[in-house]
Amino acid sequence: MVSDQSPGGRGSGPMSRRDLLTLIGTVAGSAVMYEAMSSMALAGESGYTGPIKLTGDPKGASVLILGAGMAGMCAAYELRKAGYKVQILEYNDRAGGRNWSLYGGDTYTELGGAVQKVGFDKGLYLNPGPWRLPHHHYAVLHYCKLLGVALEPFVQVNYAALLQSDKAFGGKPKPYREVQADFNGYVAELLAKCTQQGKLDEAVTKEDREVLMGAMREWGALDKNYEYKKGLLTSDRRGYVSDPGGGLTSVPTPSEPIAMTELLQSGLWAAIAAGHGYEFQNMIFQPKGGMGMIGKAFGKELDGVITYDAKVIDIHQTDNGVTATYVNSKTGGPPKTASADWCVCTIPASVLSQIPMNVGNPMQNAIDALYYDASIKVGLQFKRRFWEQDNAIYGGISFTDQPNSMIGYPSTDYFSDGKGVLLGAYTFGPNAFLYAAMSPEERVAKTVEYGAKLHPQYKEEFDNGVAVAWHRVPWTLGCAGHWTEELRAQHYDDLCAIDGRIVLAGEHASRIPAWQEGALLSSLDAIRRLHQRVMTA
Ligand SMILES: Cc1cc2nc3c(=O)[nH]c(=O)nc-3n(C[C@H](O)[C@H](O)[C@H](O)COP(=O)(O)OP(=O)(O)OC[C@H]3O[C@@H](n4cnc5c(N)ncnc54)[C@H](O)[C@@H]3O)c2cc1C
Repeated sequence: MVSDQSPGGRGSGPMSRRDLLTLIGTVAGSAVMYEAMSSMALAGESGYTGPIKLTGDPKGASVLILGAGMAGMCAAYELRKAGYKVQILEYNDRAGGRNWSLYGGDTYTELGGAVQKVGFDKGLYLNPGPWRLPHHHYAVLHYCKLLGVALEPFVQVNYAALLQSDKAFGGKPKPYREVQADFNGYVAELLAKCTQQGKLDEAVTKEDREVLMGAMREWGALDKNYEYKKGLLTSDRRGYVSDPGGGLTSVPTPSEPIAMTELLQSGLWAAIAAGHGYEFQNMIFQPKGGMGMIGKAFGKELDGVITYDAKVIDIHQTDNGVTATYVNSKTGGPPKTASADWCVCTIPASVLSQIPMNVGNPMQNAIDALYYDASIKVGLQFKRRFWEQDNAIYGGISFTDQPNSMIGYPSTDYFSDGKGVLLGAYTFGPNAFLYAAMSPEERVAKTVEYGAKLHPQYKEEFDNGVAVAWHRVPWTLGCAGHWTEELRAQHYDDLCAIDGRIVLAGEHASRIPAWQEGALLSSLDAIRRLHQRVMTA
C-alpha cells in the first residue's frame, strides 16, 4: 500500500481519477477493525415530516398494541389522540424496551437465568442499548421535546481519546489527535507530490491543480515544500512534547510525527473514518440522566394504558378483531386475553417468530427470515474519573482492536468528584458472541483486562460492572434486525404490509434499523396506513 503511493511507486504514467479514488479508498475504506460499528451508520436521512395528523372519527375503534418500546408507545400516544381506544401489553415491568438505562439497585436477569444486581452509585448509569441521538433524527427529537425530556450534548469524537492495537507500537495507545494529524498530513503530502509530478493531470484541470496544492498544504499542515515534518506547524495539530507556556519557560518543544509506514501498518487510522458517518456527525444528543428517560416519560404519559409483566404467547385474528393471549412474564400463572378491533405488533421479529400468529405466509416468512445482530455492552464503575483527571479525556470514544472494541467516556458531570461509570465494551459480530458465551462476571473481568492496556489505572480503580449481551436479552434475542439487500428485496414489503387486522411496526420494519428514529418512523407509517384502513372500512 505504501510503495504504491510513494513517488514513483505507481509506474510512470499519470494517475487517472479512478486510480486516485482507488488509492484513497484503499487507505480509508478497509476499516475491518471498526466494521461493525460503521455498519450502524449506513442509514439514510430521517423521513420525518412533522407531527402526524390522523383526521376523521374512528368511531370508538380499538387497537391492541403489543410491546411498549418506542414504536409501541408512539402508536398508542398518537392513536389515542386521534380517538382510538388503546391498550398495550408489555413483557417488562417498565416502559421503553431497548430504550433503557441501568442504575444502581436495578436487577437484570438474562436468558439462562444469570442475575446481575447493578452496583453503581446514585446518579450513575449505563445505557445498554441506545446512547446517542443524531441531530437529524427529527422524530426522536420531536418526542423528546413533546415529553419534556431534557437533552445534552453527546461527544462522539474526542481528539484526546486513545487508539490502541495489540499489533502496533508494542500495544501502547496513541492519542487520536496524533493519528489523525499524521494520517491527514501524509495523505496531503502524497497528493501534493503526485500533483507536482503531473500524475494527476488527467484527473485535475490546470487551474484546479493550484487550488488542490494550496488546499493540501492547509488541510495537512504541510510546510512550504509541501512536506509533513516535525515542527511547530505539525505540532499545532498533533500536539507538542511540551506546550507553549508563559514567561521564561514559554518555548514549546515540537513532537515527532509517527513514521508513515508504521502509521499505515498500525491500522489505527480506521478510527478517523468511524467519526465521519452521517449518524456520528455533530451535533449528537443524549437525554440527561440516561437514554431510558424517554421511555420513562412516554410510559408516564401513557399511564393506565400499559399492562406490564404481560408476556404475549399467542396472537389470533378473525374477520372482526384480534385477541392476544398473555401470561405474567415473572410468575407465569393462568393465561389471560386482551382483544381489540385492530393490532399494532411491535414485538421484535426474533421473538415474534416464536409466537403463534395466524397471518398469511408472506408476513410469516418475512418475520422468520430476519436475522438479528449480536451486540454487547459492558458498563464499568471506577472509584474516580481518572480518564479526566489523568488523561484530560472529557467524553468521546477510544478504540481498540481487542474484543471490547471501544471505551466510551461519559459526556456528562465533567470534573465531578467521586465515582464514574464508563462504557468499557461495545462490540458486535464474533466478539459479541465471544462475550455472550461468558458469564456476566467473566465479561466484566475481561473488559477490565482489555481496558487496562489503554488505561493502566483500570486495575487499581475498578469498582464494579454490569454486562448486557443482546442475544441473551429475553425480550429481543438480539440487538437489531439485520437486513441484507437480498432480504429486503424479498421480504421487507411483506413485513410492513397490513395482514387482515394486524400491522407490524418497530425498528425492524424501517430503513433506519438499529436506531430509535427507525422505530418511530415505522410506527407512524403503520398507524397512518391502519387509520386509512379504518376510515375506509
Ligand atoms: C446495543 C444497541 C445500541 C443502540 N444504539 C442506538 C443509538 O445510539 N441511538 C438510537 O437511536 N438507537 C440505538 N439503538 C436502536 C434502538 O434501541 C432501537 O431501534 C429501538 O429502541 C427499537 O424500538 P422498538 O420499539 O422497535 O423495539 P423495542 O424497544 O425492542 O420494543 C419492543 C417491546 O416489545 C416487548 N416484547 C417483546 N416480547 C414480548 C412479548 N412476548 N410480549 C409482550 N411484549 C413483548 C419488549 O419488552 C419491548 O418493550 C441501539 C440498540 C442497541 C441494542
